[in-house]
Amino acid sequence: MTEKWLVGVDIGGTTTKIAFTNFDGEIIEKWELPTDHTNGGNNIIEDIAKSIEQKLSIHGMTKKNVQGIGVGAPGPANLETGRIEHAPNLSWHDNYPLQAMLEEKTGLPVRINNDANCAALGEMWKGAGDGEKELVCVTLGTGVGGGIITNGKIVQGVCGAAGEIGHITSVPDGGAPCNCGKTGCLETIASATGIVRLAMNRMNHLKDEGNQLSLFYQQNGHITAKNVFDLARKGDLAAEAIIAEVSYHLGFALANIANTLNPSKIVIGGGVSKAGEVLLAPLVNHFKKYAFPNVARTTELVFATLGNDAGVIGAAWLIKTEDIKS
Ligand code: ZN
Repeated sequence: MTEKWLVGVDIGGTTTKIAFTNFDGEIIEKWELPTDHTNGGNNIIEDIAKSIEQKLSIHGMTKKNVQGIGVGAPGPANLETGRIEHAPNLSWHDNYPLQAMLEEKTGLPVRINNDANCAALGEMWKGAGDGEKELVCVTLGTGVGGGIITNGKIVQGVCGAAGEIGHITSVPDGGAPCNCGKTGCLETIASATGIVRLAMNRMNHLKDEGNQLSLFYQQNGHITAKNVFDLARKGDLAAEAIIAEVSYHLGFALANIANTLNPSKIVIGGGVSKAGEVLLAPLVNHFKKYAFPNVARTTELVFATLGNDAGVIGAAWLIKTEDIKS
């Protein structure tokens, strides 16, 4: 009998990524669907179920050939109830019964977790984590996500909200408002959105005359995090100052996480991590400054290697590790 397949699903605010993998985490096929917000987000489940069925039939496979479905969703996941506690990005009501609904639509076993936790599991299994069992993953995208793995397992916390690295308070007083309702979260600084905010602030308030950042903005009418990194690489002082601020706060937060957990690696992923060395070099300096000496010696900062596939591979891991009767 041929080995069963795993299905990994990564539900995002705009697109839902789905993949078939084998038990070694190798992707057999991956594809995307638009995430449909109408009907209270209920079509999302229906769309995923239909799409998996269609793809299986194209491969001449049936549900009997599938171990089950692992799903990552953007919100704290309660593993006991199989519900996503809060996912306004998907138009879902609170305590959304993701696991039960998808099991009902597909007739397959389903396991769920938070999307950032799935990305962390993906990097542990097939990416930069390289099978390490003590790992912290931080995703620097539109927001800042996090996943903490100790002894090969995600730390969930009492309500699934552990590992919310993006909402570590970096500016105790007077920080910028965050989507979570607090102010001064790491996400308001170290995300793509945060970097753009810092750039706009700098241009509006500091008026460093003649810098390339302001010239770029005047010429293009907008600026992105990538533009800021590109300008810093060219030696623009205003752009360098923004990266200094980002790497200071990120290094400080990651050092304190490492002081708490002493992971073997902190894996940095997401669009902002594409900045590469111009971000990593100052980040490592700040990290080492604030890390306990033994931690600074043994915890390594590395970039993620799976890119957008981390979420679906980690979701597939959720169902691989379950003891499901066939
Ligand atoms: Zn926050």
